[in-house]
Amino acid sequence: MPLALIQTPRYTAEALALFSFAHARDHDEIDDALKARGVDSPAVPLDPMPPLDAAGPWLLNHQLKHDAMNQALGLDSSDLTGFDLTTEAGFEAFAGENFSDHDSARQRLNI
Ligand SMILES: [Zn+2]
Repeated sequence: MPLALIQTPRYTAEALALFSFAHARDHDEIDDALKARGVDSPAVPLDPMPPLDAAGPWLLNHQLKHDAMNQALGLDSSDLTGFDLTTEAGFEAFAGENFSDHDSARQRLNI
């Protein structure tokens, strides 16, 4: 799954579903690379994302994934929990920060 799919989601139900799927698969790939290094990542449900006006628990679970990933790789953690996903600007800001974390992890893992 191309990483670019989680960088520039269009704000439609279909595109959000694709973002949700692609994003979860990207976490799966990162988790596999971490596991190969002996690092377990918390198993949290990422896909499908809940309705965006009820995404609070999802954001907290997702943060657990990023905290474990970043800690294992010696990367600075971003706080990805404070975005309002119900607005296009908020979602785009979340997606940008999230992409940056994923890209940094992939570079560190050489995947
Ligand atoms: Zn993520």
